[in-house]
Amino acid sequence: MPTHPSKPAARTAELRAILEEANTAYYTHARPTMPDKEFDTLLAELASLEATHPELDDPNSPTRRVGGAAIDGFIPRQHRVPMLSIDNTYEIATFAEWHARTTKALTASGLFDHAPAFVVDPKIDGVAMSLRYEQGQLVHAVTRGDGRTGDDVTHNIRTIGALPLRLPASVPNVLEIRGEVFLSNASFAEMNAQAEADGDEPFMNPRNAAAGTLKQLDPSRAAARSLSFVAHGKGEISDDTWATTHAGLIDKLANLGVPVNRPIAVSTDLRELIAAIEAFDKARHTLGHAVDGAVVRLNDFAQQASLGSTSKSPRWVVAFKYPAERTTTRLLRVEHQVGKTGKITPRAVMEPVLLAGTIVRHATLHNYGRVRDASTTPDDPAASRTDIRLGDTVYLEKAGEIIPYVAGVLLTARPKDAQPVDIPSTCPVCNGQLEVEPPGTDGTSAETQRTCVNPECPAQIREKLIWFAGRKQMDIDGLGQETIDQIRATTIPLHTFADIFRLKDHTHALLQLERMGDKKLANLLAGIESAKQRGLARLLAGMGIRYVGDSTSRALAKRFANLNDLLAAPLWRLMPTAVNTMSKAERAHLTGSPNKLTPDDLYDTGLGKDTAPTVHAYLHSPAARETFNELASLGVDLTSHEFSQAPAHGAPAFAGKTFVITGTLATYERDPLSRLLESLGGKASGSVSSKTSVLIAGDSAGSKLTKAQELGITVWDEPTLLANLRAAGVKP
Ligand SMILES: [Zn+2]
Repeated sequence: MPTHPSKPAARTAELRAILEEANTAYYTHARPTMPDKEFDTLLAELASLEATHPELDDPNSPTRRVGGAAIDGFIPRQHRVPMLSIDNTYEIATFAEWHARTTKALTASGLFDHAPAFVVDPKIDGVAMSLRYEQGQLVHAVTRGDGRTGDDVTHNIRTIGALPLRLPASVPNVLEIRGEVFLSNASFAEMNAQAEADGDEPFMNPRNAAAGTLKQLDPSRAAARSLSFVAHGKGEISDDTWATTHAGLIDKLANLGVPVNRPIAVSTDLRELIAAIEAFDKARHTLGHAVDGAVVRLNDFAQQASLGSTSKSPRWVVAFKYPAERTTTRLLRVEHQVGKTGKITPRAVMEPVLLAGTIVRHATLHNYGRVRDASTTPDDPAASRTDIRLGDTVYLEKAGEIIPYVAGVLLTARPKDAQPVDIPSTCPVCNGQLEVEPPGTDGTSAETQRTCVNPECPAQIREKLIWFAGRKQMDIDGLGQETIDQIRATTIPLHTFADIFRLKDHTHALLQLERMGDKKLANLLAGIESAKQRGLARLLAGMGIRYVGDSTSRALAKRFANLNDLLAAPLWRLMPTAVNTMSKAERAHLTGSPNKLTPDDLYDTGLGKDTAPTVHAYLHSPAARETFNELASLGVDLTSHEFSQAPAHGAPAFAGKTFVITGTLATYERDPLSRLLESLGGKASGSVSSKTSVLIAGDSAGSKLTKAQELGITVWDEPTLLANLRAAGVKP
C-alpha cells in the first residue's frame, strides 16, 4: 500500500496497525508473522515519526509497550461497578451447600425455567485488575484497591505484550474487562535471581512480585519483568446484549485477542463440578504459574443479577481454595550469611523434610524484621507468620513451587525454653559496623535490611571472588568455591579480582595446597589465562556492580566498544530510554539539549533514573579505576565482544552509508526520506562529493547526477531505492 510521504499521520496509523497485528500474531496465536528484525525496523520508524510529530501522540501506540513516560504517582480511580472480593471455602461440603442454596434461590424466584449452569475456572494467584476500553481504546487499567477505588496503573499494563491496546470498532462503547495480572514461575525465578545479583530483597512469591512490579512508576522497569494478564470477568459494559453468559463473554474476548482464563468445566451437575475441582488440583502444578483454587460461578448473567451481592461479595460466585502445599518441621538454628554486597541474610537450618518433591534442609528467613515481628497471620490465628524462635515448629511452603520459605510458626507447639533468634549487631564475619535499613521503607513496621559496610570484609570479598569466577561470569575453570577458600587460608594474596590473574606468580606456594598437583595447577592457570579473553560484558557482570546484572552488562557492551568508551560516556548514555520521558528542562540539564533522542541514540540498558547514577558513580570511583587499571595491566581484555557499530535496527544496504537525494521522487519527499535513511543507519547529505556512497536520483535530476556519474558514485533510481527499502523491511 503506497503511502504519500506528506501524510505522516497515515503512515503512523499504518505502522501502528501493522505492528499491533504482528504483536497479536506473536503473543495470541504464538505464530510470528514478521521477523524480529523487521518488527524492530518498523518500530524504530514509528518512534522516529512520533518524535518528529508530537501531535500524532497516542498513549496506546505500540512504542509504549517498551516503556512510555514515567508517572509521578498513582491516580486513584473509582470503579463504576465495584470490584467485590469472592467468598472462599476450603471444604467440598461447604461448596455443595453453596450450590444447593444458589440453585434453590433461583428456582424459587420462578424467573428461570432451566436448571442453572455453573462455570468452573482456575483461580490464578495474582493481582486483580479492571481494564476499561472506550470506543475500543484502552483508557484505564485500575487495581482493585478497596473495591470502590483503585490505583491507575495503565502505564505498566501497556507493557503486557499479549494484551491488545485497542479493540475492533464493533465492541461496545464502554467495555470493562476484569482479570488477573500475574508472573509466570519462570519470570518470578528470573526476577529474584536478578534481585539477588543486584543485592536487592527478593520477593516472597509471584503474587508479591507482580504487585511490586505494578507499583513501579517507571514503565520500562515493568516491561523488563514480563507480566501476564488473563480476563475472567466483566465490569461495566454499555451494551447488555453483547454477552449474556460468562462462557459467552470469555469466547468473545478470546476472539478479540484478549488472553482469557479458560473455563475447565461448565455443568448443571454438582458431581461433575466437584470432579472438575478435584481433578484440577493435580493439573494446576503443570501450568507454569501459581493457581491456588478454582472459581465456580453461575454462567447466566441474568441469573447472577437476580441473586445480587452482599456488602462484601457476590452471591453467585465462590472460590474453592486448595490447601497450600506445606509441611512442618523443626527449626534447629539460624545462620547469618554475608552476601557479596554485604547484605546479611538469616537462613533457617531445619530438620530435613520432604516438600513438593524435594528434601528441604534450609530456607531463607529473608530479613531480621521478619524474624522478630510478632504479627500473626490472618489465615490462621494459631500461627505466627514471623516471630521465629529456635526449637519452633515451622510451616514450610514453596514460593512459585520453587523456593522453600518459612511461612509461619505453629505457636501451640512452641517449647517453653524456645530461644529468640540472635540478631547480629556487628558483621558475623568481620565484626564490622552494620547499616540497618530502618523500618517502614517497604511499608511494614519491620526493618528490611542489615548490611556490613566494611569494604575489606573477608566474607564479602570471598563472595565477590566466587561470583566473579562463576560459570555465568568469567567462567574460570578450576577456581571454584573450595579452591578460593583453600587459597585464602594461606598467605597467597587473593583479595581482589586482579589477584586472581597474579596467581601464576605463586606456583610454588600453590603446589603446597592439599590435593593440588601439577596437572590440577596447570588446569587452574590455563583457566585463569583464558578468562582474560571474556570481554567487557562478562567482566562487568562478574564485578557484581549493583544494578549491573547479566542483561545490563550485555546491553552496555552492545553500545560501547570498550571500557574507555564506557567511561567516557556521560550519565545520560547509560539510561537513554529514561531521557525521552523526562521534562524538557531535565533533559536539557542532562544532555545539553531539550530535544528527545533519536532512535539511533535510544537503546535499552535496563538502567533508569534511579539506578544509572549509582552505576555511573561506581564506574568513576577511585576503587573501580584502580581495579580497571590493574586488570588492564595484567592483560585482561576490556573490549566489547558484543559491540555493533550500526544501530540495532540498521540495514546493510543503508547502514554506515552517506546518501544524497536529488530530483523528484513519487513515493517520498526529501525530509521524510532523509529521516528514514537515518533510521536505517545511513546518513543524508546535501552535496555530492567523493564521500558520497549513493546518489538517489528521481525525475529531472540535474547537475548532481552528472557529478556523481563523473565521480563513479553508485546511483539508485526510484525502483532501486524501493527494492532496497523493501529488502530492509520497510514497506514504502
Ligand atoms: Zn563484614
